[in-house]
Amino acid sequence: MSDQKPNPYKIAQDQLEGAAKICGLPVAIASILSQPKNELIVNFPVRMDNGEYKLFKGYRVQHNNILGPYKGGIRYHEMVSLDEIKALASWMTYKCALHDIPFGGGKGGIKFSPRDHSQSELERITRRFTHALGANIGPEYDIPAPDVGTNGQIMVWMMDTYMNVVGFADKNANRRVVTGKTLASGGSHGRESATGQGIVHCITEWARDRHFDLNGATFSVQGFGNVGSNASKILARTGASLVATGDWKGYIANGDGINPYKLGEYVARTGSVMGYPGARAITRQEFFATAVDIFIPAALELEIGIPEAKALSCKLVVEGANGPTDSVAEPILAEKGIALIPDILANSGGVVVSYYEWLQNKRSERWDLEEVEERLAKRMKRTYLAVNEYAATKKCSWRNAALCIALDRIGKAYSERGIFP
Ligand code: NAD
Repeated sequence: MSDQKPNPYKIAQDQLEGAAKICGLPVAIASILSQPKNELIVNFPVRMDNGEYKLFKGYRVQHNNILGPYKGGIRYHEMVSLDEIKALASWMTYKCALHDIPFGGGKGGIKFSPRDHSQSELERITRRFTHALGANIGPEYDIPAPDVGTNGQIMVWMMDTYMNVVGFADKNANRRVVTGKTLASGGSHGRESATGQGIVHCITEWARDRHFDLNGATFSVQGFGNVGSNASKILARTGASLVATGDWKGYIANGDGINPYKLGEYVARTGSVMGYPGARAITRQEFFATAVDIFIPAALELEIGIPEAKALSCKLVVEGANGPTDSVAEPILAEKGIALIPDILANSGGVVVSYYEWLQNKRSERWDLEEVEERLAKRMKRTYLAVNEYAATKKCSWRNAALCIALDRIGKAYSERGIFP
């Protein structure tokens, strides 16, 4: 499937065009948003453990900063491309604007498979990439975070490298150049599970509005990394049960339920869900056809094309991944009466808590877990309600409603500030 995937940037542009029409975004602003402000590509050599040097290609795309510093993750994956990063950067702009967080949108990555490298090679690749980015990132300018293939440790190496190449006097003020750090190095309580937690807030709001009992409900999750595993563990606490999941290596199912905690331990040991003793192997086609109440895509973009949309048998799709649904597949879901909570709302818990981490670093504070979780819950529920109301008033999809709320905020800032000179 991945070889025939459409261009994600084209999907992002189609989405922008559709929503811009609904909310009446001025053409000039839509055209600004149709391209990123900056697209940076760096090629840098790194010494491998065997003493040889290898050249890597890294990207940082800064989509828009009218509402605040560029903000967005760093992806390490063999399929990374400029157009993919451009799409992801634009979705970050809309995600932050939707939540009224004072950040813009950016995204970056390196085209390589982190699984093929040792920890010491990963450290040198990360440090060399951060050095190559130089002053193109900064705590008030462009703030990276984890994404596919990266984690808290990678963020700490980025932070440490940045801190050591800029001025010494304000070294600690630069801690917030990245978010999603480990707790010991300035991260926030609740950041690691925040995206999964935000997904579950959306699901519980959706269920509450429909008097749908999550206790006894079933769900499936594509991708069992940070987002997929945390969403599974938190959703399981409501009494819902995970019956199918999968990752880069393959798919597994168990109609009686899969314990996401035990599966998480297994994946941490082996690197994949495949071979987990508490489930049987199934094909990708069988995975998409598994009847469940809720489906959470939490892997890569454009995994739900026309065949997958036709196969899906569920009541709700909650986009944990960014851009998992092709535009041609979305009407099929709608025709089948499947509700869809769009990525910029569903997976926004991560950037919300990244913002809290950035604020804590800026103020030299440490908030306890309860405070972070309380603030996240309040913000997710408020934004969910706003999207719901907008969709009902304008009779549009939740994706268009979420995008329109974001575009209204961005449009207002542009119309007040004007375009320089
Ligand atoms: P991750 O690297 O922790 O996990 C990715 C998972 O997807 C892994 O289980 C991997 O094996 C699986 N995967 C990779 N290629 C696949 C394929 N071709 N088919 C099936 N599964 C495949 O990454 P993550 O941080 O969990 O991110 C997952 C998605 O969520 C991405 O779309 C990311 O942009 C989005 N997201 C992440 C965050 C965050 O805070 N980490 C926030 C918002 C959105």
